[in-house]
Amino acid sequence: MSDLITVQGVVLSAMPIGEYDKRLVLLTKERGKISVFAKGARRPNSPYLAAANPFVFGSFTLYEGRSSYNLNQVSVTSHFTEIAGAQPEVYYGFYFLEVADYYGREGNNEIEMINLLYVSLKALLNPQIENPLIRYTFEFRVLVIQGEYPEIYQCVSCQQQEELQFFSQNSHGMLCRSCARQVADARPVLPSVIYALQYIAGVPLTKLYSFTVKQEVLEGLKKLVGVYFSRQIDKKLKSLEILKIICGTGI
Ligand SMILES: [Zn+2]
Repeated sequence: MSDLITVQGVVLSAMPIGEYDKRLVLLTKERGKISVFAKGARRPNSPYLAAANPFVFGSFTLYEGRSSYNLNQVSVTSHFTEIAGAQPEVYYGFYFLEVADYYGREGNNEIEMINLLYVSLKALLNPQIENPLIRYTFEFRVLVIQGEYPEIYQCVSCQQQEELQFFSQNSHGMLCRSCARQVADARPVLPSVIYALQYIAGVPLTKLYSFTVKQEVLEGLKKLVGVYFSRQIDKKLKSLEILKIICGTGI
């Protein structure tokens, strides 16, 4: 006996299995991160042909078997086919999916991450916004969703909210000028970088990508968010290694 369920989500990855099938990893609102078998998805006449691919958002009807899920029907809301042909945006896109895979857990309600992926992929297709800004914004918002973001509203040492001018990786947050003297790895941060981080952490998702920054702020975000984020993840992400080679980003 098996039961039919419908979940909302996004395809994070699709791996070929045998000659005609695929195994998908879905991030869903109802079941968290799950693995789904898509029988015949690689046959040219398969109803899953266009849907069983990374970046596809929609509702997925599944047979819940004893040990796995099997795809029964897909209703696609967004294919994001444009992103596959966009370079280097597609590499950012795969990186975002791998980050979501890294943090995804079975049984979690992953709706916030699904929505973040959606607006971030949309932003990648918007030529007005620089890709590195999208990356650091995405990374910082992921940390916010996971509750792993550094203190950005007050000094981690004395709790005052004025004169936050330094950041310490080891202390996980901002420091005021006088406390910074006591912290070995404290280094100066532009007020505009702190403001950008507070904006990214607090703004509704629909407005997340409605800002641009000067080059110096982008550099500041790279040094702070790029480094902080990479230390939070205790695994080498393949897509990030590729992104670094393609874009020469260093971090
Ligand atoms: Zn202080």
